[in-house]
Amino acid sequence: MVAGNWKLNKTATEAYSLVSEMLTGLRTIHGVDVVLCPPFTALYAVSKLIKDNDISLGGQDMYWEEKGPFTGEISARMLAEFCQYVILGHSERRQHFGETNEQVARKVKAALSQNLIPILCVGETLEENEAGRAAGVVSRQVHEALHLLDIQVIGNVIIAYEPVWAIGTGRAATPEGANMTIRNVIRPTIAGLAGETTAQKIRVLYGGSVDAGNARDFFTQPEIDGALVGGASLNAGFFISIVEAASTAG
Ligand code: PEP
Repeated sequence: MVAGNWKLNKTATEAYSLVSEMLTGLRTIHGVDVVLCPPFTALYAVSKLIKDNDISLGGQDMYWEEKGPFTGEISARMLAEFCQYVILGHSERRQHFGETNEQVARKVKAALSQNLIPILCVGETLEENEAGRAAGVVSRQVHEALHLLDIQVIGNVIIAYEPVWAIGTGRAATPEGANMTIRNVIRPTIAGLAGETTAQKIRVLYGGSVDAGNARDFFTQPEIDGALVGGASLNAGFFISIVEAASTAG
């Protein structure tokens, strides 16, 4: 899987142009689940454009309530009209908007109730990493985001391991390091919640400065099932190259 997180970029008109530019290249690549996550305001336009293509749409966040007096928020049901996926617990939401593990857990549950597949982001900060606390932080984020769920649905969640220090910095984690965190921390935490079979089958992406040059090295790691891509997903050529790398890496 390759998911593009556009963050706060592109008007609906600009999104339409960017996806138009991507389509020809993406149509020739097979065997990769491609997910585009533009801003809410571009979802309708992009959904029309990708209608007959094997490309999915995702939101970048949502609120856990279904409706009511929550000005500015958007519900899982609203997103599900256009999207199959939703990014939840992105570190930028945790950092800039104070999102907690408990809030992320409610969002994950609400998303699944509307058949949206959550892409749950977890990852340690530089400070936590340097203090040797990465494993504890990541394990806790996974556990606290998923513990409200029935065991049978945990396997429907996608986890994105995104070390905060690697996001938007051009300083990606090493593929081996990311692979090790997924194998030694994320999958065992899932196993504790839902059993070994689910832990092995759940999809885990890597995110953090993935680009056309390094993508393949991540995709060839045994524990890494794809990438969540920020900056490079805003460039049609770079994004296509990353999807191509996922396709050929097997
Ligand atoms: C992200 O925003 O999830 C991300 C991984 O960003 P970037 O690829 O720009 O580091």
